[in-house]
Amino acid sequence: MNPRVLLIEDDPRIRRFLRASLPTQGYELLEAGTGHEGLSLAASQVPDIILLDLGLPDMEGIEVIRRLREWSHTPIIILSARGQERDKVVNLDAGADDYLTKPFGVGELLARIRAALRRTGAGEEDKTADIFTLEKLRVDFDRRQVFREEEEIHLTPIEYKLLSVLIKHQGKVVTHRQLLKEVWGPSSVEQHPYLRIFILNLRRKLEDNPTRPHYLITEPGVGYRLRGE
Ligand code: CA
Repeated sequence: MNPRVLLIEDDPRIRRFLRASLPTQGYELLEAGTGHEGLSLAASQVPDIILLDLGLPDMEGIEVIRRLREWSHTPIIILSARGQERDKVVNLDAGADDYLTKPFGVGELLARIRAALRRTGAGEEDKTADIFTLEKLRVDFDRRQVFREEEEIHLTPIEYKLLSVLIKHQGKVVTHRQLLKEVWGPSSVEQHPYLRIFILNLRRKLEDNPTRPHYLITEPGVGYRLRGE
């Protein structure tokens, strides 16, 4: 069965672009030009993933996300314009999974779709994979040990927690708010400066070149992303 992608977008150029690129890559494409049409197709066709434009003719993208999240866990990737950082954050916090900034290329689109589908698939399997590897990095969750190549890296408990949260969401952007909440708890969601410092420390320990990070990627104004496979 080909994965079903539901595109909710009123811009004919983006629709043409996806119509030309997705079916040839083994995806079935469903299209909606308004929020209402999108919500109704999401309910009747049960897509595997939803690509959502934020500026629709009949409602804001965030309204679509809120209504979808009342009953659906289907991954949602936002299609946003450049300079909408604030909107991205608000929409991610409302329950979207990731975003693509227009204009985007086929490679980037497919990578995001694959990562989102992999995460939903992984959620269904039992979590027996207690070793995580990504290129030179290895984390042994049973022993709480982190290695870079063969060398063991000593992380503080908070650094370890931060890395674990990013691993859980590998390949996907995690907002500042989400990270603060998952690492420090719900009462800490406004304390940004700390987060920055912990990320810097983690980079110093894990990256070959901490000033040009390869693993812990900054999404300006939004959050951080652990490199996907
Ligand atoms: Ca639009």
